[in-house]
Amino acid sequence: MATYGRHGLDTHTALEDALCTLEGGRRAFLTPSGLSAIALVLLSLLGPGDHALVSDSVYAPLRRVDLDLLRRLDIQLEYFSPAHDDLAALIRPQTKLVYLESPGSLLFDVLDLPALTAIARARGVPVAIDNTWSGGWFLQPLKLGANISVQASTKYIAGHSDVMQGAVIVDSDDLARRISITHEALGLTIGADDAYLALRGLRTLPVRLAQHQTNATAVAQWLQRHPQVVRTFYPALPEDPGHALWQRDFSGASGLVSFALRDADAAAAGRFVNALQLFSIGASWGGYESLALVAPPERLRAYRSWQNPAPVIRLHVGLEDVQDLIGDLARAFAA
Ligand SMILES: *Cc1c(COP(=O)(O)O)cnc(C)c1O
Repeated sequence: MATYGRHGLDTHTALEDALCTLEGGRRAFLTPSGLSAIALVLLSLLGPGDHALVSDSVYAPLRRVDLDLLRRLDIQLEYFSPAHDDLAALIRPQTKLVYLESPGSLLFDVLDLPALTAIARARGVPVAIDNTWSGGWFLQPLKLGANISVQASTKYIAGHSDVMQGAVIVDSDDLARRISITHEALGLTIGADDAYLALRGLRTLPVRLAQHQTNATAVAQWLQRHPQVVRTFYPALPEDPGHALWQRDFSGASGLVSFALRDADAAAAGRFVNALQLFSIGASWGGYESLALVAPPERLRAYRSWQNPAPVIRLHVGLEDVQDLIGDLARAFAA
């Protein structure tokens, strides 16, 4: 029972319980945005002199938390490429956290989560993973050995582009205690109406995600055959390098599809996005509507697995009629 507003009301408890059920977790913590959920994990588990390993295709604003906050606290984050680096060799005595995201942001590279979590667990290092892409429905990372799942509930959980919210779901009482101390110290809380919006979103999460998958698969298959596309990034495509891992660990694919343009520069990519009429320009995906943006080249350069100068466009394929969406893309290519 709540004793003070900041500690939440029954609506908050109902959402925390639902998120624990969704992710197979022990306790859930609510935060005012996905980024604050990420910062909560980092600040809870890391202190001066500590080191953490972070996969290089992670949601890029995490690097701002690193530069603007963690460095001042003498906390060192090291970015590694799970495809190229040996995680076991990178873990040091000071390593207190492995932080992953799968599929990665922008290019959706799929990580071998059971293998990576086994390495970290053998060294006693907790593993957190950003699970926003799957909405918690297509992947349960705690069942694959991760200890903490991070959700930007702003995206698929709320699902209607009308609320900002995050969540941290943990697998043990010990981690719950450590996260709860920082959550309390920072006074992190959300409004009960926002918690209600996330609960309402959860009720349609499976049907929305199934439709995102159907539409995104059709768009990805169409893009893959298009002569002006060098490469399409969508793990549900059999040709995608992450397909086998995705098929093993995930029960579906969500609405994000990226593609690299052939013989085009940044200006041409900008013209393409501007020519779209049904896809709005926007970053915060996960709602009903289709979105497009040119992936920032400096963010792509941080990924060791894709060193190609071709401009990349990221789509969020929404719930609209997919033939209309493909027609819009065809018009933009023509333009
Ligand atoms: C959007 C996003 C976040 C941050 O969520 P906000 O609610 O916008 O702060 C974190 N991780 C991933 C993968 C995201 O796409």
